[in-house]
Amino acid sequence: MLDNVMRQFNNAADIIDLNKNIRKILEVTNNEFVVHFPVRMDNGEVEIFTGYRVQHNNALGPYKGGLRYHPTVDIDAARALAMWMTWKTSLAGLPYGGAKGGIQLDPTKYSQDELQRITRRFTYALGDNIGPELDIPAPDVNTNPQTMAWILDTYMSTKSPNERSKNLHVVTGKPIGAGGSEGRDRATGYGVFLTIKFWAEHKNISLKGKKFIVQGFGNVGYWASHFLHEEGALLTAVQDAYGSIYNESGIHPEQLLDYVKANKGSILGFSGGNPVDNADFFGLDCDICIPAALGNQITVKNAPQIKASLIAEGANGPTDVKAEEILLKNGVDIIPDILCNSGGVIGSYFEWLQNRNGEIWQLDEVLEKLEKKMRESFSKVMQKTKTEKIDARTAAFVIAIERLEEAYVQRGIFP
Ligand code: GLU
Repeated sequence: MLDNVMRQFNNAADIIDLNKNIRKILEVTNNEFVVHFPVRMDNGEVEIFTGYRVQHNNALGPYKGGLRYHPTVDIDAARALAMWMTWKTSLAGLPYGGAKGGIQLDPTKYSQDELQRITRRFTYALGDNIGPELDIPAPDVNTNPQTMAWILDTYMSTKSPNERSKNLHVVTGKPIGAGGSEGRDRATGYGVFLTIKFWAEHKNISLKGKKFIVQGFGNVGYWASHFLHEEGALLTAVQDAYGSIYNESGIHPEQLLDYVKANKGSILGFSGGNPVDNADFFGLDCDICIPAALGNQITVKNAPQIKASLIAEGANGPTDVKAEEILLKNGVDIIPDILCNSGGVIGSYFEWLQNRNGEIWQLDEVLEKLEKKMRESFSKVMQKTKTEKIDARTAAFVIAIERLEEAYVQRGIFP
């Protein structure tokens, strides 16, 4: 993944002939924390866990980005994902930098009580290296509002009573009752849907009856499917960590969600679809393909088989650089991750602002503001593709990097 994000960065930096000193700064991460900490398991044994938090850049504001619980989390993954956050927040015009982190573990192997103790001990280990004006974590793969509530409570508990309530915005993506915002739950998936809607408007086509396939049926995959289904598009295939299902006449997202909830998080066995081989998934007939799981899923192996005319990247880094070359040659449009899934961090920004200002916004207000911001970024990227004659990802990177370059040029380098 690190290799991928660096190539994407260098490609855009070359095109704008980025100031070479600023390039040196952006090529490296500012701070990297690796913590090992012990947690007592339900059976009384102690297990040692390794957690990461990488802070890539904070030239535009506090570090911002999710925490992921997955076996693939390591220092390089955290570095790559932190960099993507810097470009994402910059492109969205937010007053944030980029960070990412997580714990290398398979959460399905632990009980809720164990996950709570792991999360709290990780938060304690990070200590004051996170903070509401310093570095603000959020949910990512296998973390959720409950995880954020545990982080908030642990972080607050280490502060003096008079300081506690000033820390509500140390994490975003909290449950509503614990200081979360209306709409943050659906913000990423809604944003993915919006970028697809803008793309369709741009192409002058209707989404009604269009077939889409989704990899990952977590928060992003489900909400994107929900909104596309509402628009009259047809969800024809889903893949998750357990397998793939297909139904030419459409899978109902709400029915699938109910099934997954009752089936320990797995789509397998759902009666509204037939099982298909994972290896065939990306080659299935469809108009829109939404990778909304992990990185490096679309590779030189499956890219030539892709039938979709649009790939909307709900995940971070799902398409590798070589696969992208094939797709572009085949005329496939790509809405790049740092644009496509930026609804999540924009929703986080709204939550953070509400906490900071003691405000509570209504759902329609949040979604309206989100749409406005995403439309702005989408138009900027489209504009850039035209003026510079470059692909959408490069355009998105160029806009993000130019904003950072301007900040550095104006401020200079200390001392
Ligand atoms: N994990 C999400 C992302 O990759 C959200 C980050 C945030 O809200 O800070 O963009």
